[in-house]
Amino acid sequence: MTLLAGLWLLARAAAAAGPPFADIHIHFNWDQKEIISAAEVVAKLRRANIEFAVVAATPSPLALELQRAGGDLILPFFSPYTHHLGKNDWFLRDSTVELARQGLASGSYQGIGEVHFMRGFRPRTDNRVFVELLGLAREFDVPVLIHVDAANAETFVGICRDHPDLRLIFAHAGGNLYPAHIREVLGACGNVIIEFSARDPWRYGGLAGDDGRLLPGWRELVLDYPERFVTGTDPVWKVTRTQTWDQADDGWDHFEKLLAWHHRWIDDLPAAVQRKIRVDNARRFFRR
Ligand SMILES: [Zn+2]
Repeated sequence: MTLLAGLWLLARAAAAAGPPFADIHIHFNWDQKEIISAAEVVAKLRRANIEFAVVAATPSPLALELQRAGGDLILPFFSPYTHHLGKNDWFLRDSTVELARQGLASGSYQGIGEVHFMRGFRPRTDNRVFVELLGLAREFDVPVLIHVDAANAETFVGICRDHPDLRLIFAHAGGNLYPAHIREVLGACGNVIIEFSARDPWRYGGLAGDDGRLLPGWRELVLDYPERFVTGTDPVWKVTRTQTWDQADDGWDHFEKLLAWHHRWIDDLPAAVQRKIRVDNARRFFRR
């Protein structure tokens, strides 16, 4: 990033709240809670003019704790990561499905996710627990936030083609995928919305240039499908470092900077499209 773009971001982050924004990808994980309280997270969201935020927490009940602090501001998802290290074994436990059913039936949770599938690692997308979670999404009519790291669009298209009646969110536009891949997903599955969290230059990148504007291929795609994109900050930071599993995650310290970065690329789009990406698409998709 150029010095000028960096300074612009700092200024923007420090300035008064930007236009209304639906942040569709935040976390309030146990290793974040060690250094920031639910009330402090809610205060940050309010200061930033966040209209509502989709939260996935590890362990899952922390999303409800955030909702108790933020009320309607918070849209809590059921995370299959139901204990501190649940990311490692959720797909082996029947309790994952039982807890999901309880949480959805009681009305506590309004979605499922985030669920991660990393290339070369377990679980596969056809594992029984995940398939049963999708069944619950159908039964309770809630959206699912899915993170698939793959070299192509195939894995995600496999899921969305098999479940055309579910509302699916493709996290981080696939992490490292290009516009051509996402065009394939959008063409194949009308039930999918694409989100750009963590595509900032500090993490996956690949979305905008040094000037903060969308790269030409992305811009063309977003303008071709202005109803199909949303975004969020995903304020976790440990993903960028190695061997820090024993330290707290200070991702929320970066929230304002991440949000400013998203406002920057959205600002460059036609006004009608800006509002769709900031708020309207999310409202429609999450029925808010
Ligand atoms: Zn995430």
